[in-house]
Amino acid sequence: MIRFEAVDKWYGDYHALQSITAEVAQGEVVVVCGPSGSGKSTLIRTVNRLEEIQKGRILFGEQDVHARALDINAFRSRVGFVFQSFNLFPHLSAAQNIMLAPMNVLKLGRARAREKAEQLLARVGLASKADAYPGQLSGGQQQRVAIARALAMDPPAMLFDEPTSALDPEMVGEVLQVMKSLAREGMTMMCVTHEMGFAREVADRVWFMDQGRIVETGAPGDFFERAQSERARRFLSELRAH
Ligand code: ADP
Ligand code: MG
Repeated sequence: MIRFEAVDKWYGDYHALQSITAEVAQGEVVVVCGPSGSGKSTLIRTVNRLEEIQKGRILFGEQDVHARALDINAFRSRVGFVFQSFNLFPHLSAAQNIMLAPMNVLKLGRARAREKAEQLLARVGLASKADAYPGQLSGGQQQRVAIARALAMDPPAMLFDEPTSALDPEMVGEVLQVMKSLAREGMTMMCVTHEMGFAREVADRVWFMDQGRIVETGAPGDFFERAQSERARRFLSELRAH
């Protein structure tokens, strides 16, 4: 579903992604972890072309993401991307935030878009919040609206970049719960997260990054019990110490 083929990226002289070759299969859940600055956000952002690459190729389904002729805005709206900051439009209600792209990009009628928004809000546990504005919602609720908004475009895969990092601890669980249910429904997911409980429970594979490379990949059980690289073992012991 998502394939990186010998991808390199530089920010100026800084070699941010180095010879990345990896694949997320259909229905697979991959958790990307690694120390701060290792290139996790850069990697995930290349998939919907928020970042350009200088070498190699990225395929999203059949689509060559970095093809010159790609209609970037249309493509981007079809890839579900959830950030650390929720980025909801503050002047639009939860339902209106979700209806925007289906109406503008898919040309769905207002009534149908509203119906879909209500279904999605129910799916993320917010059936009663359709007409609430972001300012009236908690961080965890806003992030769930952001997930519903991404789902409204029927994305073939969902990308998450630290979706719970900006949340108060008591709200992390409700967002992870929604992500777990998506995973169980067979959604293809690439998740940058430090939530190792989530990784253990739902990831099919863990990718460990350091200094712009994928240093190690493995099934979560293997990665957590028997990480191969010294760098990964140190990362895990620092994480456990927190
Ligand atoms: P992570 O998400 O793993 O913390 P990032 O992908 O955000 O790491 O960053 C990887 C490296 O690239 C870091 O050293 C960071 O400083 C650098 N970097 C990220 N974005 C930019 C940018 N826009 N310009 C220059 N350097 C950047
Ligand atoms: Mg990051």
